[in-house]
Amino acid sequence: MQAYVKQQKMKYTKRTLQLSVVLLLASVLLVLYHFGFVFNIDCIYKSCSQYARCCPKLVGNFHPDLRLISSEEMANKFYWVHEGGRYSLSDVSSDVTRVAILIPFRKREEHLQILLNNLHPFLYKQQLDYTVYVVDQVDEKPFNKGKLYNIGYTEAKKNNHTCYVFHDVDLIPENDHNLYGCVRSPMHLSRAIDKYNYSLPDDKLIGGVSAWRTEEFERVNGWSNLFWFWGGEDDDMSYRIMANRLPIYRFQNSVARYRMLKHSQSTVNTARHRILKDSHIRYKFDGLSSLVYIPPDIQQSLLYTRILVKL
Ligand code: UDP
Ligand code: MN
Repeated sequence: MQAYVKQQKMKYTKRTLQLSVVLLLASVLLVLYHFGFVFNIDCIYKSCSQYARCCPKLVGNFHPDLRLISSEEMANKFYWVHEGGRYSLSDVSSDVTRVAILIPFRKREEHLQILLNNLHPFLYKQQLDYTVYVVDQVDEKPFNKGKLYNIGYTEAKKNNHTCYVFHDVDLIPENDHNLYGCVRSPMHLSRAIDKYNYSLPDDKLIGGVSAWRTEEFERVNGWSNLFWFWGGEDDDMSYRIMANRLPIYRFQNSVARYRMLKHSQSTVNTARHRILKDSHIRYKFDGLSSLVYIPPDIQQSLLYTRILVKL
């Protein structure tokens, strides 16, 4: 009898131990999930199998080339790029990801040249079907990045892209495993920037470089049109994402790395905190749904499609 009780007790202790181990593992996974690690790893593998045949071309970390190269020289070097900054895969299947890179722009020529010199080989190695669009604000009004992005998106959508990458002109990628193909959406690609010691100051951030599929981007109604001058539109986008209970996906710090090019601080929007107060409600009627704009001129340059916007 005593032996039986002892045996039962041992069985019970073993079970409790097993249960604790399972619980511990579950909590570790939950913590990892919270910080995005599980998705990061998953994303890398998923994307690699998706782009299996290009993976050998990718090198991981690289030193960006920060020299100023002329457009003609780049056009010679980048033999795969067609007029308008396009690269199309020859064996296109209908489910291929068609990426639009949207760069908000005004008078930062040197940054644009440096970005293009790094971005074209980067995208080519990833074997993406892509077009680079520069959304150039050519009037004298204050800069409005959100509205430029919405206009760029609406114009690019006419070419049936399936993935939209919103890309500051002064962020140069440093690791080509950072896939621009919307393996998840929304994806914050610029998680680790040299200016911020390659760590993310706040996990709500979406500014810098982000990738979106149509469905999620339209669900948040795009960017706000109301932020003039510098600041606010990125925080507003964070609130839109939260209001729609969307997660923000990211690759790990070692992959989502960028060099930020230097420039002077633009005029700050002092009204931004006030406007940000109602983002979670305002997003429903401020964005793609309320976008009105003068039909822009569109020029096909050697290395990009230029959308000339007057707000
Ligand atoms: N930008 C531009 N010209 C300007 C202001 C902004 O081209 O006069 C674009 C550019 O793509 C830049 C982005 O808007 O990377 C964000 O602006 P900025 O770099 O001034 O802000 P930061 O992100 O550095 O705070
Ligand atoms: Mn900047």
